[in-house]
Amino acid sequence: MFDFHTHTFLSDGVLAPTELIRRAMHIGYRVMAITDHVTPGNLEFVLKTLIKDCEMASKRWDILALPGVEITYPPVEDIDMMARDARALGAKVVNVHGETVMEPVQPGTNHAAVNSEHVDILAHPGLISLEDARTAAENGIFLEVSAREGHGLANGHVVRMAKEAGAKMVLDSDAHAPEELLTRAYATKVALGAGLDDDEANRLLDAAPLEFLKKINVDYP
Ligand SMILES: [Zn+2]
Ligand SMILES: [Zn+2]
Repeated sequence: MFDFHTHTFLSDGVLAPTELIRRAMHIGYRVMAITDHVTPGNLEFVLKTLIKDCEMASKRWDILALPGVEITYPPVEDIDMMARDARALGAKVVNVHGETVMEPVQPGTNHAAVNSEHVDILAHPGLISLEDARTAAENGIFLEVSAREGHGLANGHVVRMAKEAGAKMVLDSDAHAPEELLTRAYATKVALGAGLDDDEANRLLDAAPLEFLKKINVDYP
C-alpha cells in the first residue's frame, strides 16, 4: 500500500509519528507520507519533528516514511509562498487542503494550489473546475481521491474532471487515527465508488503511486 496523506498528534491526528508508521507497516504499507496540517506558525516545528522521526523509522524498519505537510487554511495569496517554504525546509510531499464540500475553505484555494510549482497533491479538491484540473495536469500536480469520510463525497466529480483534463490522481487515506489507514480492499471500494472501472482502480492503486514517487524524486525501495 501507498498513502501520501496522513496525520499525527503534531496536528489533529491521534498517534505519535513513529506509532503511525509502525502501525502502517504492520498492515502492509510500503511507502507513506505524514502530512500534518501546517500554517506559517507551526511549519518549522512540524517539519523538523517529522524529518527526524521519518528518517529514524525508515532506517530501522521495512517502510519508507516521508515527511510532508498539508498546507491548511492559509489566505489564498500565501499558498505559493508556504509551499515554497515547506519544500525549502525539507518537505518531501507538499499537499494543499483543497476546497472540500464539507468545509468553508477559502474559494480560490484549488486555483492557487494548482498554480504553485511547489505543490505535489491537491487534497480533496471538492467541486474543482475543469480549468483548475487542466492546470493541475499541465503542472503535474496530482488530484486526490479521498478515502476520508466527508471529503470523499466529491470523489466522483474529481475523477470526472481529472479524466477530462488528463490530470493525474492518487488515492489517499487522510487518516487521523490508525483504524483509518488503508487496506487494499477498502481502497479498491473507494476507487470503484468514485466511478473508476476495475483496471482504472488497479492503476490508481499500483501505477499512480509509482508515478508520484518519480515526480517527487524518491526511489521506490
Ligand atoms: Zn485536508
Ligand atoms: Zn488531511
